[in-house]
Amino acid sequence: MNDTAPIDTAATAGFRDLVRQASTLFRQVVTEQRANVGARESGTVVEVSRGIVTVVGLPNVQSDELLRFAGDRYGFAFNLDRHRVGCVLLDEGESLQSGTTVQRTGRVLDTPVGEALLGRVIDPLGRPLDGGRRLSGLERQPCEHAAPEIMRRAAVSVPLQTGMKVIDGLIPIGRGQRQLVLGDRQTGKTSIAVDTIINQRDSGVICVYCSIGQRSTNVARVIASLRAHDAMDHAIVVIGADDAPPGVQFIAPYAATTIAEYFMQRGQDVLIVYDDLTSHARAYRHVSLLLRRPPGREAFPGDIFFVHSRLLERSTHLRDKDGGGSLTALPIIETEAQNVSGYIPTNLISITDGQIYLSPKLFHLGVLPAVDVGRSVSRVGGKTQLPAYRRVAGDLRLAYSQFEELEKFARFSSQLDDDTRRALDRGLRVREVLKQPRHELLSVPEQIGSMAALTSGAFDSISVEQIRAAEQMIHGGLREALPEVCDRIVAGEKMDDRDFKQLESFVRQTVSADVQVE
Ligand code: ATP
Ligand code: MG
Repeated sequence: MNDTAPIDTAATAGFRDLVRQASTLFRQVVTEQRANVGARESGTVVEVSRGIVTVVGLPNVQSDELLRFAGDRYGFAFNLDRHRVGCVLLDEGESLQSGTTVQRTGRVLDTPVGEALLGRVIDPLGRPLDGGRRLSGLERQPCEHAAPEIMRRAAVSVPLQTGMKVIDGLIPIGRGQRQLVLGDRQTGKTSIAVDTIINQRDSGVICVYCSIGQRSTNVARVIASLRAHDAMDHAIVVIGADDAPPGVQFIAPYAATTIAEYFMQRGQDVLIVYDDLTSHARAYRHVSLLLRRPPGREAFPGDIFFVHSRLLERSTHLRDKDGGGSLTALPIIETEAQNVSGYIPTNLISITDGQIYLSPKLFHLGVLPAVDVGRSVSRVGGKTQLPAYRRVAGDLRLAYSQFEELEKFARFSSQLDDDTRRALDRGLRVREVLKQPRHELLSVPEQIGSMAALTSGAFDSISVEQIRAAEQMIHGGLREALPEVCDRIVAGEKMDDRDFKQLESFVRQTVSADVQVE
């Protein structure tokens, strides 16, 4: 017999087609069967604890399937054991007791998506929390999604302007980047995120603010700030409230990401804020411990890293062929006693593309935003920064870090040489320029104007206290004096020597005129 007889390729291709059709048909039949069984199958509650119930009698239930309890309350299947199902509640469970019936819905956990959500405040299941009309008839998508594959992603290439000099100048963020904001309690973490959302008013970036386990007064303040600055038109607020069951807090960021992805998939740029993932980790620990999943470090379940990484992997910049949309993430983490090497902070630092660290010491010194430049980094945003920044902010980071070191030593020595004194004087001015009150956001040319005054030495001739007024003069007159330079800066063109000279002479004149007025 001839072993090397040619293979009939047409016949094998036909056979392969047949197998593919059969397997598709088989899958359809199984799915329909499951849905039919799902609609009919009902079980019974056998155990109730805070936010969790155990159910028997649902042998075909799927992971993450929505379950309906008597009294129109909902939960989802989380632990699938052989004879029982651990279910996480999405409504208060006071009325639930042993013996309550549970109905399968055949639907996995999902959330409404669409343009109609803009301007609304909702819970993760899409129920309005702003007293507005019910959101009915909207498309619903599963809260859990696989992240886009590597081949569908493109490099981060467009900057996301926050309007804050210290971030846009020294720790720039790109669209599609994941930038962690971390710091102790009350150091201005939420303020940075809210200001970034407000600054997107004219940029066309859609913003989703997801609050997880935050006090309702704080959330109300955020919403009031967004409304007061006309930022709700391009924003959606998703709340997993601190008094809601832990299950709601746990699913809130996934639902918010699904809502954000809807816009990204349509080619739009989206920003999502998770405030904060420390509370999210705690909510997950709560449900896991009650479901008797084995605890690991700091009693968090072993897969907490996976829980956060699969969430943040969904943020990306899609390639042009897939619409070119992007999802930028600003996850927030609360540290304890400035310990950035805790379990959750180190996990998140390794998942994200950089971090903005807020220091309580700077906060108490009144240096706001309290960004510790030396401990903050942006690993991908630098490539997206507008070229004009490189010209004026290139050396600022190093000068500022050197200043912080010198400042510590200068306290112990009364006699300083001229070089040290000069570096200290310059550093104090850098710090002053990097300060920025809340909600007073600056356009790109305004930021460049301030930094040009700093790097050209124009601010060296005035006292630190006079800088704020001088900056305001620069911002007020810049566009009128140099409209073309401003346009070129915004268009992302390189600032040539002529442009820089013009800018420099403008800031010098303005600063000296300001001093004379005084
Ligand atoms: P929490 O840990 O409670 O969530 P947080 O770190 O999110 O706090 P914020 O609520 O943003 O901090 O801010 C704390 C306080 O600091 C607020 O009262 C806010 O007004 C003030 N603050 C923050 N940033 C600035 C700023 N740039 N200028 C002036 N005040 C600021
Ligand atoms: Mg906060």
